[in-house]
Amino acid sequence: MSDAPDSTGSTLRSARLTVLAGPTAVGKGTVTAYLREHHPEVWISVSATTRARRPGEVDGVHYHFVTDDEFDAMVAADELLEWAVVHKQARYGTPRAPVLEVLASDRPALLEIDLQGARQVRERMPEARFVFLSPPSWEELVRRLVGRGTENEAERERRLDTARAELAAETEFDATVVNHTIPAAVEELVELMRS
Ligand code: 5GP
Repeated sequence: MSDAPDSTGSTLRSARLTVLAGPTAVGKGTVTAYLREHHPEVWISVSATTRARRPGEVDGVHYHFVTDDEFDAMVAADELLEWAVVHKQARYGTPRAPVLEVLASDRPALLEIDLQGARQVRERMPEARFVFLSPPSWEELVRRLVGRGTENEAERERRLDTARAELAAETEFDATVVNHTIPAAVEELVELMRS
């Protein structure tokens, strides 16, 4: 793939950028965690988020945990390559400067973001590689989504409707990785990033 101008007009190796997205509960976070541990050569973008930190999460490693005001300031200063409200709960966004910096080097880079974010990156950096992480089957996704059975019927239906719409987005992507097992999915992703 050739170098291509990015939205700032400079020539950057945007082709080295891979965007991983997929339906809720498909295991994107687990895939990224495994990748971080086993493939330190891959740079993984650290998103900013307004959601609360979970136990075990480290500020600056898993996310930049910011307040609503801080997120507003990042948006106003156009510091985010993309951002979205996820699960109607919190805002998440990709800081632009670190992405541009790493693309100026030879290091492969990965964004693990939701579908809305992936579509925004596609607008701004169409030469990036877009990979869809899909579940082994619809039944397996349903099991992961509603497996605990703690939701009421309406909530269950809402989640399944969302999942159907999210799965339909696969056709917008350059490649699909099926998440049969985490290690295999990661190796396939890394292969795609190398190709
Ligand atoms: P979690 O809160 O479970 O870590 O992530 C929730 C969702 O937010 C996941 O689907 C993840 O892909 C998405 N996400 C994480 N960072 C970003 C980001 O920078 N931008 C967008 N658009 N989505 C993100």
